[in-house]
Amino acid sequence: MLPIVEHFYTIQGEGRNTGRAAYFVRIGGCDVGCVWCDVKESWDASKHPELSIDEIKNLVLASGTKNVVITGGEPMMFDLTELTAELKNAGLNLWLETSGAYPISGNWDWICVSPKKFKAPLDEALAKADELKVIVFNHSDFEWAEKHLANTNSYCIGYLQPEYSRLEKIIPEIVEYVKQHQQWIISLQTHKVINVP
Ligand code: SF4
Repeated sequence: MLPIVEHFYTIQGEGRNTGRAAYFVRIGGCDVGCVWCDVKESWDASKHPELSIDEIKNLVLASGTKNVVITGGEPMMFDLTELTAELKNAGLNLWLETSGAYPISGNWDWICVSPKKFKAPLDEALAKADELKVIVFNHSDFEWAEKHLANTNSYCIGYLQPEYSRLEKIIPEIVEYVKQHQQWIISLQTHKVINVP
């Protein structure tokens, strides 16, 4: 059983899989405490109904999706070995969104680690990242982003994504930074532009 905040079929708006259809499953529970978190209602797992792995699988399959994003909250506060095994058996592509603050469990096709200053990512999580997505709030975040990208594998793609409320102020700096540091790619929250969840 897992506490589920919400689940919906939509378009992935961020990072490597931007623009692709995916079913989002948001698992409750997070102790990372980002001040700008836009899903604070997810933090307390006890406030959300628990669904069985079969129930989750049936909801996902009913949508007709090929791709599933497991997000939170911080989904790695739970052992997702069984959930990912069941969803993989059903032929689905599984994409994880995690802060990296907990060991990564489960079998994933794509792992996005989005490290947060409020609770440091584990080296073992960074080592498994296919994508490092750093939310840029102010200038000091560039140096912090470099420090974490250095701890990932060579295949890991680095994304710099402006914190949404600071988009207009910070994007010129991100543009200049990426022109000077071409290992990075800009990620935008395109789901907010096309007005989908
Ligand atoms: Fe919110 Fe994610 Fe930060 Fe948790 S890790 S506080 S869910 S932004």
